Amino acid sequence: MIFLDNASTTKIDPRVLKAMMPYLKDRYANASSRHQFGQDSANAVENAREQVAKLIGAKSDQIFFTNSATEANNIAINYLGFADVILTTNSEHSSIIKCIKHLKETKRIKAHLIKIDKNGTLNLLKLQKMLVKYNPKLLSIIFANNEIGTIHNIHDIGELCAKYKALLHTDATQAIGKVPININETNIFALTMSGHKIYGPKGVGAIYVKEPIKLSPLILGGLQNTLSSGTINHPAIIGFGKACELMMNVEEENKRIGQLRDVLLEKLISNIDSAYVNGTMENRLPGNISLTIPGLDTRMFVECLEDIFISSGSACMSANPKPSPTIKAIGVEHPGSVIRIGVGRFNTMDEIEEAGNRIIHLVKEMRNR
Ligand code: PMP
Repeated sequence: MIFLDNASTTKIDPRVLKAMMPYLKDRYANASSRHQFGQDSANAVENAREQVAKLIGAKSDQIFFTNSATEANNIAINYLGFADVILTTNSEHSSIIKCIKHLKETKRIKAHLIKIDKNGTLNLLKLQKMLVKYNPKLLSIIFANNEIGTIHNIHDIGELCAKYKALLHTDATQAIGKVPININETNIFALTMSGHKIYGPKGVGAIYVKEPIKLSPLILGGLQNTLSSGTINHPAIIGFGKACELMMNVEEENKRIGQLRDVLLEKLISNIDSAYVNGTMENRLPGNISLTIPGLDTRMFVECLEDIFISSGSACMSANPKPSPTIKAIGVEHPGSVIRIGVGRFNTMDEIEEAGNRIIHLVKEMRNR
């Protein structure tokens, strides 16, 4: 099997698993217990908090663990934008879109959308006009798009937010480790992360918050000083910390992933008639390919590929046959004919060659049916 769906999730790194194992097996005490056994778990959580913080240049008391990036996004929208005006784009992750929609319907916020252009980029002049016109309290914008891999200019967006006194929240779930992020050099107020996109475990995420303003858990009944209710999942948090540590200094890895991606892209484009890339190639995640293959039903196509795993869009939208907001936003003419490929840490050149051949062969076969 060849796994090329690394934007949906990633294989856990064996070094991450190794770091987690003692805490799954023997060092299982509740991190909130006051006894020594519990404090062992609590200390490991604090160590993980430092590892997560270090990856983005933050301080550990600015990092709050959650059970997912979805939860972190919901916390950001609920508590940073509550009862006020939120600005966002028309190509966000469903956890932002649905949360904003809900708050809008319950009349607890006003929300306005900035449209990205057909390349997937955001026009800063347009953003400036919206900031002036609506005077939002919060701008929430995805750092790197989960479908087309395009990376927004968060630095310049942050400058504009500073000028117009809007808080900036960015969903960096796809970006961390793949794009250098130093929180001290950019005016980011809050940032969302997830463990399972960076070779860590599923079911753990975090939110960075610049100043310790009052954030609350969305589910009540939890402990003090945590944003996620329920017993702290310390093995997952420890795995997330280790995954962040392993994402430090990955320039070489990102370069290698970028080269594999380019080989595959070149092969697909030159062998599949009329296929074209969605979104700009200029500022793009190194492992991302998003292609339109006109005439192809890609939902069926990905199933027929059998042991080669790619997707026809974001995993969060896969139950929905309608085009995703991002694909709509960039005006793809054949929204049912999009494939997304995510190259990652564990892919090899042999896999890329094999996957390329199989994809090309199957496209030809399905087009001839
Ligand atoms: N934001 C983005 C940009 C994502 O790609 C994802 C995962 N599809 C999420 C948020 C949600 O992440 P999690 O699975 O940790 O809830």
